[in-house]
Amino acid sequence: MSSQNDGIIVILSSPSGAGKTTLVKLLSEKKKFSISVSHTTRKPRSNEVNGKDYFFVNDKSFKKLIKDNEFLEYAKVFNNFYGTSKKPVLENLSSGKNVIFDIDWQGTKQIKSKNIKYKIITFFVLPPSKEILYERLSNRDMKDKLIASERMKDFYRDVKHWEDYDFVVINDNLKKCFNEISKIIDNIFSTKKSEIKYDKNLILNHVEKLIS
Ligand code: ADP
Ligand code: 5GP
Repeated sequence: MSSQNDGIIVILSSPSGAGKTTLVKLLSEKKKFSISVSHTTRKPRSNEVNGKDYFFVNDKSFKKLIKDNEFLEYAKVFNNFYGTSKKPVLENLSSGKNVIFDIDWQGTKQIKSKNIKYKIITFFVLPPSKEILYERLSNRDMKDKLIASERMKDFYRDVKHWEDYDFVVINDNLKKCFNEISKIIDNIFSTKKSEIKYDKNLILNHVEKLIS
C-alpha cells in the first residue's frame, strides 16, 4: 500500500504527434511534477537535449541496461528502443515527488502489471482529427514528410489502446486539455479514480470518426 507521503505516477500516452510531450512539459512546470526521462536509441531531434528530453544511447548500451535490469519497462516503438530507468523513478516516488511519464501503451501495460505500491493514473491523449495530427507531425519533424507518414501508419493500431486508460482527453486546444488533465489529477487525491467521471460516449464517437 502506498502511504500519504508517497508520490503518484501519472502516465500520458497517445498516437505520435497528439501532443503528450507538450502536455507533460506543461504539467511538470505548472504542477511541479518530476518528468521521467527515458533512454532511447532514436536519434535526437534538432531541439532535443541529451539528459533533458531523453538519454540518447546506442543499441549496445541499451541492451546492457536491459541485461543489468535497470529498466522499469522498455519497448520497441517505431523501430527504436525506449525505456524507463527504475532507480530515479522509485527514488522520487518514495521521497514524495509525483512523477509524470510520456510512454507508449506497451510501457504503460508493463508498469501496470508490476503491481507497484504507488498510485497510478493513466491518460490517453487523442488528436482533434487525423488531418491535424499529420500537420503537427509534419511541422514537428522538420517538414520530414517521410517520418510523419511512417508515424501515421501506426496511428490506427495505437489509437485502439485508448480503452486501456483511466481517462481519455482530446488535445484540440492546449490550455483546455491541460486544464482537463489538471482537474482530474487534483481530484485524484480526494476522490476514488472510479468516481471521477469523464464523457466516455464523446470519446467513443470521436475515436470512431478518427478511424473511419
Ligand atoms: P507527441 O509527444 O504526442 O508525439 P508533441 O507534444 O511532440 O506530440 O506535439 C506534436 C507537435 O504538435 C508539436 O510541434 C507541438 O508543439 C504541437 N502541439 C501539441 N499540442 C498542440 C495543440 N493543442 N495545438 C497545436 N499544436 C500542438
Ligand atoms: P518520440 O520518438 O516521438 O519521442 O516517442 C515515440 C514514442 O515512444 C511515443 O509514443 C512515446 O510516448 C514513447 N516513449 C518514449 N519514452 C518511452 C519509454 O521510456 N518507454 C516506452 N515504452 N515508450 C516510450
